[in-house]
Amino acid sequence: MLVGVPKEIKNHEYRIGLTPAAVKEFVTHGHSVMVETNAGDAIGFTDQMYTEAGATIAPSAQQIFAEAEMIVKVKEPQPNECKLLSKGQTLYTYLHLAPDATQTELLVASGATCIAYETVTDGHGGLPLLAPMSEVAGRMSVQAGAHYLEKSHGGSGTLLGGVPGVAPGKVLVIGGGVVGTNAAKMALGLGADVTILDRSLPRLRQLDDIFRGQIKTVFSTVDAIEHYSSKADLVVGAVLIPGAAAPKLLNREHIKAMKPGSVLVDVAIDQGGCFETSKATTHQEPVYTVDDVVHYCVANMPGGVARTSTMALNNATMPFGLALANKGPKQAMLDDKHLLAGLNVHEGKVTYKAVVDALGEEL
Ligand code: NAD
Repeated sequence: MLVGVPKEIKNHEYRIGLTPAAVKEFVTHGHSVMVETNAGDAIGFTDQMYTEAGATIAPSAQQIFAEAEMIVKVKEPQPNECKLLSKGQTLYTYLHLAPDATQTELLVASGATCIAYETVTDGHGGLPLLAPMSEVAGRMSVQAGAHYLEKSHGGSGTLLGGVPGVAPGKVLVIGGGVVGTNAAKMALGLGADVTILDRSLPRLRQLDDIFRGQIKTVFSTVDAIEHYSSKADLVVGAVLIPGAAAPKLLNREHIKAMKPGSVLVDVAIDQGGCFETSKATTHQEPVYTVDDVVHYCVANMPGGVARTSTMALNNATMPFGLALANKGPKQAMLDDKHLLAGLNVHEGKVTYKAVVDALGEEL
């Protein structure tokens, strides 16, 4: 199969669909890969590295969309990319169609087979192609929080790890899933005093086993949120209620009661945010302050560490991508119900129920 990798064109998107190492895997399995020139330059993946891995370099995205049987990307296709897709072609990338009627209509019109990373499933009820980005965002949340706790960045001037003779800073993580666990690992690594709140008792039990008493696990109630947030230097919002907007767990009064110069990192901002005062920010202007509390609410945190994120994403996407190329999309999806769960649009029809439910009348 001829696999095509265009350069991402969404604003400030530096990730790329395939790393040179992933290209080598496809080539080793007998496939051809065409990469748009300079597509990985921003994160240190040069045309020469792609050529050495066995790819050919195409001068334009147009050539890739015209010739490749499968297009591998990161972000949802922009309107001009959608118009370059055609029947018989497979698109393998993040799509997030439910809130995006325009993109859905364009993909339906293209006739292409469109597989969304975010709806591919695994045998444990998880979303394996979303998890790596949650791992990245969770780890980044504490790095960002530590940075904004510095006085010159608007914070209280607290070092999360403390020093001998000075108590460490307090980190509260609300939601102990993939993001929350990775945030806790980083905070613990820095030497902070870490508490995780979750509403799932089985999850709290797992966390207790994972961290072996090095962090506190507390059942998430209004009372617990009030108590621990008022004492925290850094609060990480990491809750998810699948298919729903994030619940507002800290209201304006809770935030007023926090210590001046403390920091909120709302990772759940891509689902609307879990603090009343949260509004989405960008890597260019990541923070703002409300009631002396610094808010970091970047909606695409993994984009800030595009090199690590690309490699982490490729580790998860490559096995499914290889199956699509080796067997052909139809057979690969018939053989694997978890890959089939990724199918969102096929030959002019929306095939994913949640997208139909969300957009039904608009389509
Ligand atoms: P997850 O499903 O692994 O974990 C969510 C956890 O929240 C679960 O353990 C659940 O029990 C818990 N929870 C639900 N309601 C709660 C409540 N009221 N109090 C305490 N805990 C509660 O999800 P995840 O992969 O960790 O993702 C968390 C959030 O981060 C999601 O909204 C996701 O979209 C977002 N995210 C954002 C970025 C970004 O760049 N901003 C990147 C990746 C993920």
